[in-house]
Amino acid sequence: MRTEQPKMIYLKDYQAPDYLIDETHLTFELFEDHTLVHAQLVMRRNPACAAGGLPALVLDGQELELLSLSLDGETLAAGDYQLDASHLSLQPKSASFVIDSSVRIHPERNTALEGLYKSGSMFCTQCEAEGFRKITYYLDRPDVMSKFTTTLSAEQHSYPVLLSNGNPIASGPEEGGRHWATWQDPFMKPAYLFALVAGDLWCVEDSFTTMSAREVALRIYVEPENIDKCQHAMDSLKKSMQWDEQVYGREYDLDIFMIVAVNDFNMGAMENKGLNIFNSSCVLAKAETATDAAHQRVEAVVAHEYFHNWSGNRVTCRDWFQLSLKEGFTVFRDAEFSADMNSRTVKRIEDVAYLRTHQFAEDAGPMAHPVRPEAFMEISNFYTLTVYEKGSEVVRMIRTLVGAEGFRRGSDLYFERHDGQAVTCDDFIKAMEDANGVDLSQFKRWYSQGGTPRLAVSEAYDGAAKTYSLTFKQSCPATPGQRDKQPFVIPVELGLLGAQGQALPLRLQGEAAAGAASRVISITEAEQVVTFVDVAEQPLPSLLRGFSAPVKLSFPYSRDQLMFLMQHDADGFNRWEAGQQLSVQVLQELVGQYQRGETLQLDQRLVGALRSVLENASLDQAMVAELLSLPGEAYLSEISEVADVDAIHGAREFARKQLADALFDLLWQRYQANRELSRRTAYLAEAEHFARRSLQNIALSYLMLSGKPEVLAACLEQLEACDNMTERLAAVAVLVNSPFEEEKAKALASFADFFKDNPLVMDQWFSVQAACSLPGALARVQQLMEHPAFTLKNPNKVRALIGAFAGQNPVNFHQVDGSGYRFLADQVIALNALNPQIAARLLGPLTRWGKYDDTRQALMKAELERILASGELSSDVFEVVSKSLA
Ligand code: ZN
Repeated sequence: MRTEQPKMIYLKDYQAPDYLIDETHLTFELFEDHTLVHAQLVMRRNPACAAGGLPALVLDGQELELLSLSLDGETLAAGDYQLDASHLSLQPKSASFVIDSSVRIHPERNTALEGLYKSGSMFCTQCEAEGFRKITYYLDRPDVMSKFTTTLSAEQHSYPVLLSNGNPIASGPEEGGRHWATWQDPFMKPAYLFALVAGDLWCVEDSFTTMSAREVALRIYVEPENIDKCQHAMDSLKKSMQWDEQVYGREYDLDIFMIVAVNDFNMGAMENKGLNIFNSSCVLAKAETATDAAHQRVEAVVAHEYFHNWSGNRVTCRDWFQLSLKEGFTVFRDAEFSADMNSRTVKRIEDVAYLRTHQFAEDAGPMAHPVRPEAFMEISNFYTLTVYEKGSEVVRMIRTLVGAEGFRRGSDLYFERHDGQAVTCDDFIKAMEDANGVDLSQFKRWYSQGGTPRLAVSEAYDGAAKTYSLTFKQSCPATPGQRDKQPFVIPVELGLLGAQGQALPLRLQGEAAAGAASRVISITEAEQVVTFVDVAEQPLPSLLRGFSAPVKLSFPYSRDQLMFLMQHDADGFNRWEAGQQLSVQVLQELVGQYQRGETLQLDQRLVGALRSVLENASLDQAMVAELLSLPGEAYLSEISEVADVDAIHGAREFARKQLADALFDLLWQRYQANRELSRRTAYLAEAEHFARRSLQNIALSYLMLSGKPEVLAACLEQLEACDNMTERLAAVAVLVNSPFEEEKAKALASFADFFKDNPLVMDQWFSVQAACSLPGALARVQQLMEHPAFTLKNPNKVRALIGAFAGQNPVNFHQVDGSGYRFLADQVIALNALNPQIAARLLGPLTRWGKYDDTRQALMKAELERILASGELSSDVFEVVSKSLA
C-alpha cells in the first residue's frame, strides 16, 4: 500500500543508469511459510556515464526483509547502507564490485500476483513491469541487462518440477526431502524477463527444427488434470515459430522453449525468456471445454508471447514509456499471423470493431494518453488498449506507407542494429526511415499526440472537366495535458466506384497515367484537397479501405449508397463497414424515436440489405455472420454525444426482433444446414468450421427472438447433443436471455453441475449470466459472488463476473438508481487491498462518466469520490481515480 502520495515519473527525466549488472546469480529456497532469496550481483560503473566520482548505488526493493548484505565479501553493518520503503542505498568504493544480499519474502501471502507468488499449489513469478523489486534488491529497470544464473530449491514431493530461464545446467537432491536445480540464461536480459516456476506439473513435449536446422525442445507445463488441453497451444507454437522465420526471418535462439499455465494471473501471458508464463485461459483449449473464440485467443496469445522473443527480448525497451515499442509491434505481428492462419478480412473486422469500441472510448476519457505516454504514476496502468492496439495500428500504418517489402527491410535493419540493446520508439522509426530513405518525422506525432483524429471528407464532381475532388479535413480533440494538436500523417487507402460498381481508374492531377485502382493517399495537412482527373462519371468513393488509419472518418453517404457499397466494394472490409454504417444510421434513427416516445419504425432497407446477404450463397459464412452482427451497444454509446443506454438497448433489441421476424425463413435454413454439418462432422479448430459455427450461432440468437416452439426445441437439441463448447455456450447464452424460465434454470444448473471442476468453463458460466440484459442482473451477480466457484482472489473470476457485469451489461450496470455503480465501487475497494492491478482495471467503466446524463454522471463521480476517501489506496487505484475526477 501507498505510504506517501505517489509521484509522477516523466519521460523527459530519463537518465542512463549509473551502474550496470553484468552477472546476476540468484538462489531461491522455497518453503511453505517463506522464501529466502540470495542475490549476488556483479556490478560496475556504467562507462556511458560522465566520468567523475562514484555516485551512490540505489537499488529498488519493496516488501523485502533484509537478512544480510555484503560488498565485495565484506558484511555491511546497519550504518553502511540506507533503507526506505522502496530502496536500498550504499556507497561503492570502486568502479567494479560485487554485492551479496539475502532477503526473506512471502510468496504464500502475495495476492497482488506481482513478484514471486503462489497460484494454487505452485510457485511462479510475474516481474513485468516492476515486480522484480519484490523479489530482491536490484536495478529494476529495462535498460539494465544482465546474465542470469538461477538456483531453486524446494521440497521434492510437492515441487518435482523446478524451472527458470535458459538452459538447465545442474540439479540434485538435498537433505530433508528437498531437491535443487540450476538454470543459466546465456542471453543478457532485463529483470522484467526473469521467471521461475516450481510445482507438480506435467508436460506435453514436442520439438521444432529451425531454419538453420537446430532442434528446439518445446514443452507446455500444466497441472495434471489439464494435460489433455495442450495440443492446440502446441500446434499454435509451432506455427508461430515457422511463421516468424518465413515472414520476418527470425529464428528461435535457445535449445528449449517452455510455456507454463497458471490459474492466477493478472493478464493474458508473459514473455519471460525461454519460459513464458500464461494465464491458463490463454493455453488450455479443447473442443469440449473451450469455444472457438477461446481457441483463436490461445493461438494469438501463444504467437504474441513467442514473437516477443525478438520484438521485446532480443531488442527490449529503454524505459517503460517505450512500452509500445514491443507491445504495439508484437500485437501487429500476432494480428498478421492470425490473419494468415485464418480469414484475413474477418480478423481485421474483429480487430477494428474492438479498437473502435474500446480504444476510442479510452482515447476520449480521462485516462487518454499518447501511444508513448509522457508521464505516469503507476506503469501497470499503462498496459492499455492505446499502447497495445493503437500502437499496433501505428505500426500497420508504417507498413502501409513504406510497403510490405520496405517494412521487412526496416524490421531487418531494426533487429540487426539493435540486437541485445534496450531502445526507444525513435530507434524503431529510424530503422524504418534508413531502410527506406523516407522521412517519418511528421508521422511520429502518432507516438506523441493522444486522442482519436477525425477526418471529415467531402466531394465535388465536375462532369464537364471530368475531375473529382475529395476534401479532407482533419482535427483531433483535446486530451488530458494536450490541447492543440498538429496534423497527423493519415494514410487513406481508397478507390472510386462507377455506377455499375466497377472500379474506376485512379489518376491524380499531375500524374501521367492512372495508377492502381486502389491506392494510398497520405493526408498530411489540416485541410487537403485531392483531385482525380479523367473521371468519366460521378463516382462513389470507398474510403479508408481495410481501416488504413485509426481515425473517425465521416462522409455524407446516403443509405442507398451504403447499400451499394455493401454489394460492390472491392474491399471486403469496406463492404462490412458500409453495412455497419447503414446499421448505425438506422439504429440512431430508432434511438431518436425511442427518446421521443414514438412508435419505433425500422427502415426496411436494412432488412433488404441483410436479406441479400443471407441469400448470397457465395459469401464466406464468417462474413455473413459479421454482416448480420449489428453494431454493439458499447459502440453505439461510444459514438453518441450522450449515451442513452436504455434507448440504445431498446432500439437495438427492437431492430433485432424485426430482423428476426422478417428474415425468419432464411435464418432458419442457414441454422439448420449448419447445425446439421456440426452434427455430422467432428469439431475442428479451423477457419471454415469457425465460420459455419459463428453463422449457426448468430442465426440461433435471432431465431430465439421469435419465441417459436420449434426454435426452442432446436436450441435444446443443440445444447444436449453438441460435442463442443462453442455450440453449448451459445445455446446457454440464448436461453439465459430468453423468457423460457424453466429451460433456462435447468440448462444453467446442469451446466454448472457438469463443469463445476473446470474453472475456465465456470468463468463462461459466470459471464453469460453477468452479461444478461434482462432485469435483475445485479442481484444475480451478487448472489453468484457467493457461489463456491467464485473468489475475488482469482482475476479470471473477477473479470468473468464483475468485469462482465460492468463492461458488457450497460442497461443493468447503468441502472439509474446507481446500484450498479455502488456495487462496482465496493468491489474496487475490496480488491484494492488484494490486487491493485485488477482493482484499477475494474474501475474502467466508472471513469467513463463523461458519456452519460447528469444524474448518472453525479452518481458515478460520487462513487469515485467514495473510493478516493476509502483509506489507503494503492498507487494503481489512486492514479485512475484521481485522474478521473480531475
Ligand atoms: Zn506483449
